Amino acid sequence: MAQVHLRDVVKKYGPLEVVHSINLDIADGEFVVLVGPSGCGKSTTLRMVAGLEGISGGQVKIGGRVVNDLPPRERNISMVFQNYALYPHMTVRENLGFSLKIAKQSQADIDKAVDEAAEILSLTPLMDRKPGALSGGQRQRVAMGRAIVRHPEVFLFDEPLSNLDAKLRTQMRVEIKKLHQKLKSTIIYVTHDQIEAMTLADRIVIMRDGHIEQVGTPLDVFENPVNTFVGTFIGSPP
Ligand code: ADP
Ligand code: MG
Repeated sequence: MAQVHLRDVVKKYGPLEVVHSINLDIADGEFVVLVGPSGCGKSTTLRMVAGLEGISGGQVKIGGRVVNDLPPRERNISMVFQNYALYPHMTVRENLGFSLKIAKQSQADIDKAVDEAAEILSLTPLMDRKPGALSGGQRQRVAMGRAIVRHPEVFLFDEPLSNLDAKLRTQMRVEIKKLHQKLKSTIIYVTHDQIEAMTLADRIVIMRDGHIEQVGTPLDVFENPVNTFVGTFIGSPP
Protein backbone atom coordinates (compact mmCIF):
# COMPACT_ATOMS: atom_id res chain seq x y z
CA MET A 1 0.00 0.00 0.00
CA ALA A 2 1.29 3.43 -0.92
CA GLN A 3 2.08 5.79 1.93
CA VAL A 4 0.95 8.77 -0.12
CA HIS A 5 -1.51 8.26 -2.91
CA LEU A 6 -2.74 10.94 -5.33
CA ARG A 7 -5.56 9.93 -7.65
CA ASP A 8 -6.75 12.30 -10.39
CA VAL A 9 -5.94 15.29 -8.20
CA VAL A 10 -6.99 18.63 -9.69
CA LYS A 11 -6.49 22.20 -8.49
CA LYS A 12 -8.41 25.16 -9.84
CA TYR A 13 -8.14 28.77 -8.82
CA GLY A 14 -11.46 30.14 -10.00
CA PRO A 15 -11.76 29.12 -13.65
CA LEU A 16 -8.01 28.55 -13.98
CA GLU A 17 -6.88 24.93 -13.64
CA VAL A 18 -3.25 24.86 -12.45
CA VAL A 19 -2.93 21.14 -11.61
CA HIS A 20 -4.47 18.73 -14.13
CA SER A 21 -5.45 15.31 -12.83
CA ILE A 22 -2.23 14.14 -11.22
CA ASN A 23 -1.66 10.47 -10.31
CA LEU A 24 1.22 9.47 -8.05
CA ASP A 25 1.92 6.68 -5.54
CA ILE A 26 4.72 7.09 -3.03
CA ALA A 27 5.96 4.11 -1.01
CA ASP A 28 6.70 4.09 2.70
CA GLY A 29 10.23 5.38 3.26
CA GLU A 30 10.65 6.69 -0.27
CA PHE A 31 12.37 10.00 -1.04
CA VAL A 32 10.46 11.53 -3.95
CA VAL A 33 11.45 14.84 -5.52
CA LEU A 34 9.03 16.98 -7.53
CA VAL A 35 11.02 19.06 -9.98
CA GLY A 36 10.11 21.38 -12.83
CA PRO A 37 10.21 25.00 -13.96
CA SER A 38 8.81 27.81 -11.85
CA GLY A 39 5.01 27.93 -11.96
CA CYS A 40 4.49 24.28 -13.03
CA GLY A 41 2.47 23.41 -9.92
CA LYS A 42 5.01 21.82 -7.56
CA SER A 43 4.14 23.88 -4.48
CA THR A 44 0.42 23.63 -5.16
CA THR A 45 0.70 19.84 -5.34
CA LEU A 46 2.67 19.70 -2.10
CA ARG A 47 0.25 22.06 -0.37
CA MET A 48 -2.66 19.83 -1.39
CA VAL A 49 -0.91 16.86 0.26
CA ALA A 50 -0.33 19.02 3.35
CA GLY A 51 -3.92 20.22 3.44
CA LEU A 52 -2.88 23.87 3.12
CA GLU A 53 -4.84 24.00 -0.13
CA GLY A 54 -8.15 22.26 -0.78
CA ILE A 55 -8.38 20.01 -3.82
CA SER A 56 -10.79 20.75 -6.65
CA GLY A 57 -11.11 17.09 -7.66
CA GLY A 58 -9.71 13.62 -7.03
CA GLN A 59 -8.45 11.98 -3.89
CA VAL A 60 -5.46 12.26 -1.55
CA LYS A 61 -4.63 9.37 0.80
CA ILE A 62 -1.94 9.31 3.48
CA GLY A 63 -1.23 6.01 5.26
CA GLY A 64 -4.25 4.44 3.58
CA ARG A 65 -6.65 7.07 4.91
CA VAL A 66 -8.51 9.53 2.68
CA VAL A 67 -7.46 12.98 3.96
CA ASN A 68 -9.33 15.20 1.46
CA ASP A 69 -11.31 16.91 4.21
CA LEU A 70 -8.78 16.76 7.05
CA PRO A 71 -6.92 19.87 8.26
CA PRO A 72 -3.07 19.79 8.17
CA ARG A 73 -2.65 18.95 11.86
CA GLU A 74 -4.66 15.73 11.46
CA ARG A 75 -2.71 14.47 8.45
CA ASN A 76 0.41 13.17 10.19
CA ILE A 77 2.70 15.32 8.05
CA SER A 78 5.32 17.98 8.79
CA MET A 79 6.29 20.64 6.33
CA VAL A 80 9.54 22.63 5.96
CA PHE A 81 9.37 25.75 3.80
CA GLN A 82 11.91 27.96 2.08
CA ASN A 83 11.05 30.88 4.36
CA TYR A 84 11.20 28.99 7.60
CA ALA A 85 10.30 31.36 10.41
CA LEU A 86 11.91 30.58 13.75
CA TYR A 87 10.61 32.41 16.81
CA PRO A 88 13.35 35.02 17.39
CA HIS A 89 12.69 35.48 21.11
CA MET A 90 12.85 31.73 21.87
CA THR A 91 15.92 29.56 22.31
CA VAL A 92 16.62 26.64 19.99
CA ARG A 93 15.22 24.27 22.64
CA GLU A 94 12.02 26.32 22.90
CA ASN A 95 11.68 26.58 19.11
CA LEU A 96 12.03 22.80 18.79
CA GLY A 97 9.46 22.06 21.48
CA PHE A 98 6.89 24.71 20.68
CA SER A 99 4.51 22.64 18.52
CA LEU A 100 4.49 19.88 21.15
CA LYS A 101 3.77 22.41 23.87
CA ILE A 102 0.79 23.70 21.90
CA ALA A 103 -0.35 20.08 21.50
CA LYS A 104 -0.26 19.93 25.33
CA GLN A 105 2.29 17.14 25.57
CA SER A 106 3.92 16.61 28.97
CA GLN A 107 7.23 18.39 29.60
CA ALA A 108 8.98 15.00 29.92
CA ASP A 109 7.72 13.91 26.48
CA ILE A 110 8.65 17.27 24.98
CA ASP A 111 12.19 17.08 26.42
CA LYS A 112 12.64 13.54 25.09
CA ALA A 113 11.49 14.38 21.54
CA VAL A 114 13.49 17.62 21.48
CA ASP A 115 16.69 15.94 22.71
CA GLU A 116 16.34 13.20 20.08
CA ALA A 117 15.81 15.70 17.27
CA ALA A 118 18.76 17.79 18.50
CA GLU A 119 21.00 14.74 18.54
CA ILE A 120 20.02 13.72 15.00
CA LEU A 121 20.62 17.23 13.65
CA SER A 122 23.75 18.00 15.73
CA LEU A 123 22.00 20.86 17.50
CA THR A 124 22.80 19.73 21.06
CA PRO A 125 25.53 22.36 21.68
CA LEU A 126 23.25 25.14 20.41
CA MET A 127 20.14 24.52 22.51
CA ASP A 128 20.34 27.70 24.61
CA ARG A 129 21.05 30.07 21.70
CA LYS A 130 18.47 32.26 20.04
CA PRO A 131 18.06 32.22 16.23
CA GLY A 132 19.89 35.56 15.90
CA ALA A 133 23.06 33.85 17.13
CA LEU A 134 22.92 31.01 14.56
CA SER A 135 24.30 30.66 11.04
CA GLY A 136 21.96 30.12 8.08
CA GLY A 137 22.69 26.40 8.02
CA GLN A 138 22.12 26.07 11.76
CA ARG A 139 18.81 27.89 11.47
CA GLN A 140 17.76 25.54 8.68
CA ARG A 141 18.66 22.56 10.86
CA VAL A 142 16.43 23.98 13.63
CA ALA A 143 13.61 24.32 11.09
CA MET A 144 14.06 20.65 10.19
CA GLY A 145 14.24 19.75 13.87
CA ARG A 146 10.88 21.37 14.45
CA ALA A 147 9.46 19.11 11.74
CA ILE A 148 10.94 15.89 13.12
CA VAL A 149 9.96 16.31 16.80
CA ARG A 150 6.41 15.46 15.81
CA HIS A 151 7.40 12.06 14.35
CA PRO A 152 5.24 12.52 11.26
CA GLU A 153 4.60 9.74 8.76
CA VAL A 154 5.49 12.05 5.91
CA PHE A 155 7.83 15.05 5.54
CA LEU A 156 7.06 17.70 2.98
CA PHE A 157 9.86 20.06 1.92
CA ASP A 158 9.24 23.06 -0.33
CA GLU A 159 12.56 24.41 -1.66
CA PRO A 160 14.05 24.38 1.85
CA LEU A 161 17.54 25.32 0.64
CA SER A 162 16.74 28.12 -1.79
CA ASN A 163 17.77 30.89 0.58
CA LEU A 164 21.17 29.41 1.33
CA ASP A 165 24.41 30.09 -0.53
CA ALA A 166 25.79 27.45 -2.91
CA LYS A 167 28.31 25.93 -0.51
CA LEU A 168 25.81 25.60 2.31
CA ARG A 169 23.23 24.19 -0.08
CA THR A 170 25.59 21.37 -0.96
CA GLN A 171 26.30 20.66 2.72
CA MET A 172 22.61 20.69 3.61
CA ARG A 173 21.82 18.25 0.81
CA VAL A 174 24.13 15.78 2.52
CA GLU A 175 22.43 16.52 5.88
CA ILE A 176 18.98 15.91 4.43
CA LYS A 177 20.08 12.65 2.84
CA LYS A 178 21.52 11.53 6.20
CA LEU A 179 18.33 12.55 7.96
CA HIS A 180 16.35 10.39 5.55
CA GLN A 181 18.64 7.41 6.10
CA LYS A 182 18.35 7.74 9.88
CA LEU A 183 14.60 8.29 10.12
CA LYS A 184 13.62 6.10 7.15
CA SER A 185 10.71 8.48 6.71
CA THR A 186 8.72 9.20 3.60
CA ILE A 187 9.77 12.50 2.03
CA ILE A 188 8.23 14.58 -0.73
CA TYR A 189 10.67 17.30 -1.68
CA VAL A 190 10.05 20.17 -4.09
CA THR A 191 12.82 21.96 -5.94
CA HIS A 192 13.40 23.70 -9.26
CA ASP A 193 17.08 22.66 -9.07
CA GLN A 194 17.83 19.64 -11.26
CA ILE A 195 21.10 18.79 -9.50
CA GLU A 196 19.40 18.83 -6.11
CA ALA A 197 16.67 16.59 -7.48
CA MET A 198 19.09 14.11 -9.05
CA THR A 199 21.28 13.83 -5.93
CA LEU A 200 18.46 13.48 -3.37
CA ALA A 201 15.75 11.44 -5.05
CA ASP A 202 14.95 7.75 -4.93
CA ARG A 203 12.42 8.70 -7.60
CA ILE A 204 12.09 11.96 -9.45
CA VAL A 205 8.79 13.40 -10.70
CA ILE A 206 9.20 15.87 -13.54
CA MET A 207 6.37 18.36 -13.84
CA ARG A 208 5.44 20.86 -16.52
CA ASP A 209 2.39 23.14 -16.82
CA GLY A 210 0.38 21.40 -14.11
CA HIS A 211 0.97 17.82 -15.13
CA ILE A 212 3.53 15.06 -14.65
CA GLU A 213 5.80 14.44 -17.64
CA GLN A 214 7.78 11.51 -16.27
CA VAL A 215 8.41 9.55 -13.07
CA GLY A 216 11.47 7.36 -12.54
CA THR A 217 14.77 6.91 -10.77
CA PRO A 218 17.28 9.68 -11.53
CA LEU A 219 19.20 7.26 -13.74
CA ASP A 220 16.05 6.17 -15.61
CA VAL A 221 15.03 9.70 -16.31
CA PHE A 222 18.53 10.73 -17.32
CA GLU A 223 19.08 7.77 -19.65
CA ASN A 224 15.55 7.45 -21.03
CA PRO A 225 13.84 10.85 -21.07
CA VAL A 226 10.32 10.45 -22.53
CA ASN A 227 10.55 13.64 -24.59
CA THR A 228 12.71 16.62 -25.47
CA PHE A 229 11.37 18.68 -22.58
CA VAL A 230 12.49 16.12 -19.99
CA GLY A 231 15.79 15.50 -21.75
CA THR A 232 16.60 19.18 -21.95
CA PHE A 233 15.46 19.86 -18.40
CA ILE A 234 17.51 17.02 -16.92
CA GLY A 235 20.48 17.82 -19.11
CA SER A 236 20.53 14.85 -21.49
CA PRO A 237 18.77 15.96 -24.69
CA PRO A 238 17.72 12.92 -26.75
P1 ADP B 1 5.73 26.11 -8.57
O1 ADP B 1 5.80 25.79 -7.10
O2 ADP B 1 6.00 24.94 -9.45
O3 ADP B 1 6.63 27.26 -8.93
P2 ADP B 1 2.99 26.86 -8.00
O4 ADP B 1 2.40 25.58 -7.54
O5 ADP B 1 3.35 27.85 -6.94
O6 ADP B 1 4.25 26.56 -8.93
O7 ADP B 1 1.99 27.57 -8.98
C1 ADP B 1 1.35 26.89 -10.06
C2 ADP B 1 0.45 27.86 -10.81
O8 ADP B 1 -0.63 28.22 -9.96
C3 ADP B 1 1.15 29.15 -11.19
O9 ADP B 1 0.70 29.52 -12.46
C4 ADP B 1 0.69 30.12 -10.14
O10 ADP B 1 0.66 31.43 -10.65
C5 ADP B 1 -0.71 29.63 -9.84
N1 ADP B 1 -1.11 29.93 -8.45
C6 ADP B 1 -0.50 29.53 -7.32
N2 ADP B 1 -1.14 29.96 -6.22
C7 ADP B 1 -2.23 30.66 -6.67
C8 ADP B 1 -3.31 31.37 -6.04
N3 ADP B 1 -3.40 31.43 -4.69
N4 ADP B 1 -4.22 31.96 -6.84
C9 ADP B 1 -4.14 31.88 -8.19
N5 ADP B 1 -3.14 31.23 -8.85
C10 ADP B 1 -2.20 30.63 -8.10
MG1 MG C 1 6.96 26.70 -5.56
